[in-house]
Amino acid sequence: MVVERQRPGTLEVICGPMFSGKSEELIRRLRRARIARQRIQAFKPALDDRYDAVAIASHAESRFEALPVADSLELARLLEPDVEVVAIDEVQFFDEGLLSLVETMADRGIRVILAGLDLDSEGRPFGIMPQVLARAEHVLKLQAICTECGAGASRTYRKVRTGGQVLVGAADLYEARCRHCHREVDASQVTLDGATGGHE
Ligand code: ADP
Ligand code: ZN
Repeated sequence: MVVERQRPGTLEVICGPMFSGKSEELIRRLRRARIARQRIQAFKPALDDRYDAVAIASHAESRFEALPVADSLELARLLEPDVEVVAIDEVQFFDEGLLSLVETMADRGIRVILAGLDLDSEGRPFGIMPQVLARAEHVLKLQAICTECGAGASRTYRKVRTGGQVLVGAADLYEARCRHCHREVDASQVTLDGATGGHE
């Protein structure tokens, strides 16, 4: 006897610094879901229109159409009843209401794929990202290439001193850096072992 079972919902998170390929990975998963003929909806925060107002776009100019939304309430209103895959880019910019919304979607059998910055440019956990990471079944943490030394980069460095935690920009304002190069090393900086700053 064939028992028809409802597809189990899941929460997947793709995180890492800017330029690590989060949007590329999100777009790759969405293209595969489209090949599988699944009903997809993609969203992004309205404030992030760096490359495209109506698409998830990567720094390498790959894109997938997405609806810009102001907050989790607007996103909930736009959800279609028969959607199977929901993708949300730049999750760090969303309000706390997104947490219960993504859990409810996953509980109802939807595959929810989230992408966002795990850390802000000061190296602090960014917005609701720690909570979504803790709740997810699958987590992918990507690295970019450090613009200073070529190592794997886990941090985003802001080249200007202005602005609070949210300052929307791209390569004009930010670059990817490894843990060491993210600290602005000055000659007088004392490291843990008492030596002066720098590494290697
Ligand atoms: P994210 O969504 O994580 O910001 P994207 O998917 O938009 O990343 O962009 C990744 C692309 O950015 C890479 O494939 C590469 O073409 C480009 N890129 C530019 N600077 C860097 C860097 N420092 N390290 C890695 N990739 C970079
Ligand atoms: Zn480095």
